[in-house]
Amino acid sequence: GQSKKRISPTQNIKVVVRVRPLSKDEIEKKVRAVVSCVSLKEIQTKEKKYHFDRVFQPDSSQMDVYSYVVAPMITDVLEGYNCTVFAYGQTGTGKTHTMTGGDPTLSSNVHWKNDELAGCIPRAAANIFDEIGLMDAVDFNVRVSFLELYNEEVRDLLSEEERPSPLNLFNDSKGSVYIQGLNEITVFSSQDIYGLLQKGTHKRQTASTLMNNHSSRSHTVFTITVHIREVTLTGEDVLKTGKVNLVDLAGSENIAKSGAKDKRAQELANINRSLLTLGRVIQILAEKNNKHVPYRDSKLTRILQDSLGGNTKTCIIATVSPSSSSYEETQSTLEYACRAR
Ligand code: ADP
Ligand code: MG
Repeated sequence: GQSKKRISPTQNIKVVVRVRPLSKDEIEKKVRAVVSCVSLKEIQTKEKKYHFDRVFQPDSSQMDVYSYVVAPMITDVLEGYNCTVFAYGQTGTGKTHTMTGGDPTLSSNVHWKNDELAGCIPRAAANIFDEIGLMDAVDFNVRVSFLELYNEEVRDLLSEEERPSPLNLFNDSKGSVYIQGLNEITVFSSQDIYGLLQKGTHKRQTASTLMNNHSSRSHTVFTITVHIREVTLTGEDVLKTGKVNLVDLAGSENIAKSGAKDKRAQELANINRSLLTLGRVIQILAEKNNKHVPYRDSKLTRILQDSLGGNTKTCIIATVSPSSSSYEETQSTLEYACRAR
């Protein structure tokens, strides 16, 4: 009947904060925690109380974050919508833990499916295949791409080349952006996706050891695209295409250092360009007043243009440390996140 039909989601931006626990080292050094989660939606610092859609306490689980942030998006993706999750925060506050997770000391996470520490990407992978299994789709196709954006250059983390060269962006006739030569790999199970996540992560880490601070200065975008063909009760053939982008952003401390005049100034300016443009884009989208959205001002927002604004869902997970030594960064992350609401 008609009541079964879902109402299309309107553009929707959520901002949540996740506070990581103090590390063993910090506890031993008796570091003080200077932020407190006063309710499910409020976080308090020395200076100010902030309001968000949700605040995840230090003891929140990977499952808690996934269930609130990503699980509802998967339903939309399978209905043909585009969704994006960003992890934003200072280096060392849990962006990669939240997006990828797992035990970082293991070189392989073959048992990811039952791993309590699995982050949003492996959970989304499992969820998508579980849901498709329950649908009566005639046909489906799931594809994965995984890219890194460093110094405003796009590189394919799923490339077979040892040192992949930067890829060019083009606007196609419909105005969406096309990344020339980016691998989009068809996957048949969640295990296939775990394998690609592992492979790309490994590639990123290799680059990281060759170049100081590389990983804290680069953004990664992991995208799962789903095409589903269904035949409706009236015999119509419908094809739906939706995707979810899971973005692990460069450390937000790079913004603060923008005044630095060292030889890395240009590189920092470029990291800032993507982070700052993203902030502006999200802010304008959240204001909903038809202002010009400056997608074209950075590579990151160009790449994600078809997944930001319009009928899409976006969530920013701002990650912060509770420690007194990170107080200024924490404050600046909360301010950035606040502006996005
Ligand atoms: P980032 O990617 O933001 O630089 P990481 O995700 O690498 O930070 O996290 C830094 C360290 O803190 C890692 O050892 C990670 O396992 C740990 N960590 C981060 N967030 C949490 C959390 N919510 N619970 C437990 N450990 C965490
Ligand atoms: Mg990281």
